[in-house]
Amino acid sequence: MTDFIPYGRQSVTEADIAAVVDVLKSDFLTQGPVVPAFEEAVAARCGAQYGIAANSATSALHIACMALGVGPGDSVWTSPLTFVASSNAALYCGADVDFVEIDERTYNMCPVRLGEKLDRAAAAGTLPKVIIPVHLTGQSCDMGAIHAHASKHGVRIIEDASHAIGGSYRSQPVGNCKYSDITVFSFHPVKIVTTGEGGMAMTNDPELARLMRLDRSHGVTRDADMLEQENAGPWYYEQHRLGFNYRMTDINAALGLSQLDRLPEFIDRRREIAAIYDRAFADLPVTTPHQHTDSASAWHLYVIRIDQQNAAQNHRAVFDQLRGAGIGVNLHYIPVYLQPYYRDLGFKPGLCPNAEAYYSEAISLPMYPTMTAEQQHKVIEEVHKAVCGASIGRAAE
Ligand SMILES: *Cc1c(COP(=O)(O)O)cnc(C)c1O
Repeated sequence: MTDFIPYGRQSVTEADIAAVVDVLKSDFLTQGPVVPAFEEAVAARCGAQYGIAANSATSALHIACMALGVGPGDSVWTSPLTFVASSNAALYCGADVDFVEIDERTYNMCPVRLGEKLDRAAAAGTLPKVIIPVHLTGQSCDMGAIHAHASKHGVRIIEDASHAIGGSYRSQPVGNCKYSDITVFSFHPVKIVTTGEGGMAMTNDPELARLMRLDRSHGVTRDADMLEQENAGPWYYEQHRLGFNYRMTDINAALGLSQLDRLPEFIDRRREIAAIYDRAFADLPVTTPHQHTDSASAWHLYVIRIDQQNAAQNHRAVFDQLRGAGIGVNLHYIPVYLQPYYRDLGFKPGLCPNAEAYYSEAISLPMYPTMTAEQQHKVIEEVHKAVCGASIGRAAE
């Protein structure tokens, strides 16, 4: 019973450790060759031209907004069902944020609602500069539809793919930016691939890549072709923008580069775990994750929704019983605009009823590649107990 099963955790091998140790013994702990090697490897894997590594996805979202020129007076729209970082990135730039209601089945930004909201904003002269769809749980948003609506109005797109490296949309890897200007990945340890802390912005646009490279390192360049003043000597550099120090270290990049080799293995194992959960919960009063036919999820999260009419206990009681049984269930996410900080900006409950309904029923179950069959069996058994008020009846696996 003391074996607590978290909702997610990293898988670090001896090879990963050796790769990090190699960097520690090398000449460069940061600003060395491993960061560009990692950027190129991620870009190659997801079919994008450029990868710009940063010290977190939050930083990458910020420099993505900066590169697209988001500033005071602009508006940025995202999904209410995301981590606060997706919308905070716009606030860092001095922009306003707003939220687009979710699709009831995928829990991602609803393209229909987006289209309607954009049409209304166009009529009122209040179009956003950028929208940030979020690939919740690792399942891509319906990017074809979202892109069609956004491009009709000249609105730019940043995909928050923090959950979705290794996933695909219309048989092409998430991150290729076919339907967006920039796509951002997170490498936090609960995500699919980790660097400890880290993130990366993908793009096919050389100018956006150039701006994001500047902004992640103080807005400073040593590139001879970019200098505005005379090159005074070998020490010379110029600051062109008010950038930040958002650089990823080579230590972190080495871990990521080593982990990236196992991405297909991670995704296969996550899909296997999801399929077992799907079968095990088929007869329970819970909603299992709906998969859009265009998307192949990376399965960062496995979220069930408790059918409050037919379950033996309500959402909170199921959640508490699972936690009490050593299952590290979680809830992704509290609709962002319900946060006190956002309420102070004027947001009120009721803005996105589908997102709020999801929040009142959703539970994220443990999902990570090193979860054992016994651990998954225990999760399944405890979910049955908590939802039905009885032990698992017949073979659910
Ligand atoms: C984790 C996460 C982030 C932030 O990622 P960090 O790398 O921790 O900064 C942003 N958006 C979403 C949807 C996330 O899940």
